[in-house]
Formats: sequence, structure tokens, C-alpha cells
Amino acid sequence: MDAAQPDAGCAGGVECATWIEDYQREIVSKLSGESAIAEQLTIDSRFTLAERNAVRDYLSAELARYGLEPVRHSYGTGTNIIARLPATRDGASLILLGSHFDGIDNSPAAGDNATGVALVLAAARYFQEQEQRDNDMIFAFFDEEERGLLGSSAYAAKLRSEEPDLAAAHIFDLVSWDVDGDGAVEIWSPSPELESLYRGVGDELGVPVQPVDFDSSDHAAFIGNGFSSVGVSEEFVAGDFNPNYHTPQDSYANIDFDYLAYVSRFVFQVTARAQ
Ligand SMILES: [Zn+2]
Repeated sequence: MDAAQPDAGCAGGVECATWIEDYQREIVSKLSGESAIAEQLTIDSRFTLAERNAVRDYLSAELARYGLEPVRHSYGTGTNIIARLPATRDGASLILLGSHFDGIDNSPAAGDNATGVALVLAAARYFQEQEQRDNDMIFAFFDEEERGLLGSSAYAAKLRSEEPDLAAAHIFDLVSWDVDGDGAVEIWSPSPELESLYRGVGDELGVPVQPVDFDSSDHAAFIGNGFSSVGVSEEFVAGDFNPNYHTPQDSYANIDFDYLAYVSRFVFQVTARAQ
């Protein structure tokens, strides 16, 4: 192959999804008040009811743009946004990809957790584009994580009665920082099956995967309801984490978008495997 020849193009799969970086910048920008989320509306945080309603409208519109049918799951104090995407084969397992969209007061909450939302929304767009999907998928955006996992707990309890066969819940929280540049991905309290899935794909792709025990995020709600689950994050427990989280400086400018896209591509390959 002559090096001077033009690029023959991507071979398929995640490398062809060249839109991921730009799209995730757009999502985090709108969610963190860097740019308007709707006409004449820029939000300072995702704390008040009005702000969270603006986010719900935005997420619903994006999902509808990809042909998905977003559903509002209200549970009393809050409302989650849920969308399903069927497998392209019979006998598939059901998996969930989720992230919380709420934030604390007085913070743009770009890292925590506009980044997780950007991962799951990009996943919905990515998998909807695929000709072949081996799993039935739920994309879930949870309200009120910061108030004690309220949205995910309500939804996990609903699934326990309605979809007890859910094979796995993959939860993304804080995917924004890798200042030591080691490309490590931390996985929180994974079930044995999920730990081996992430480790196996990590070994293939050269992504360091570091399991730790940690239960202060939405994956704990699924584990508590008897499901196989995992939280996926930057090295929050290991110490290489965004120091701005839960502060007014958790802004768009302080996000490592290359790391977010890199983790997203890894996760797409993990969750594309039949489970
Ligand atoms: Zn969070």
C-alpha cells in the first residue's frame, strides 16, 4: 500500500463513527450552559424543576431524531427519560445503558454528569445506525441521582417486576478526566460476568480496566434490585478524577473530550457483545 494513497475508509464499527467527538461536545455544551439548550434558553445548572424539564425536552428530541420513542417515567418527585431499541435477531438479551442527567445546585455539572449523558446519547445514535444488534437495548436517563439515586431506584424497582430478565445495567457517571494519560477506565462494583466482559474487551483493545468497590452511583440501585450491573467512570476511586466535580468550576472548559470519546468507543464495543 502506497502511503500517498488516499485513506481507503474505515473498516466498519466504531472507527467509522467520526461524529462522536463533535456530537459529545454539543451535548455537554448544551447541558452545562456553555450554549443554549433551546431557543432563548441557557441553563446554569440541572437542579431546578424548570432546568430538568428543559433537559428532558432536549433528550427526548434527540432520541426522536434517531427514530426512537422516548417515554417519560414519572415516579413522584422526578421523571426519567427512557427509550428502547430492539435487537436485529431473535432471542436477544435485554441490556440497559444509563446515566443521570440531574446535577447539584450552583454547578454547570459538565463532568458530573453531562459526560455520562453524552456517552449514552451517542450510544443510542450509534446503535440505531448499526445494521446488526445482538441485544435489545434500553437507554435510560435518570433524574435525582444527586438526591440519593431516586430516579434509578424507581426505575430499577419497576424493571424488577416488569423485566426481571434484564441481563445487565451499564451505568456511566463522570467520564471527563485523565490527567495522567494512562487511558484507564474504572469499573465500579461489577458483577463477575460484567468484570470479565470489560476485562476481555479491554485486553483486546489495550484499554486498562480497573475494578473497584464503590456504590455511590446509579449502578447500586440496580444491584440492590437484584440485577447484574456496573458503574463505569474515570479513576474516581484511584484518584485521577476531575477535581472540579460538585463545584462551580465543573464546566465545559474542564472536560477531556478525547477521553470521553475514547471511553465511549470502548463501551460501544463492550455493549455490542451478546450478553
Ligand atoms: Zn454523578
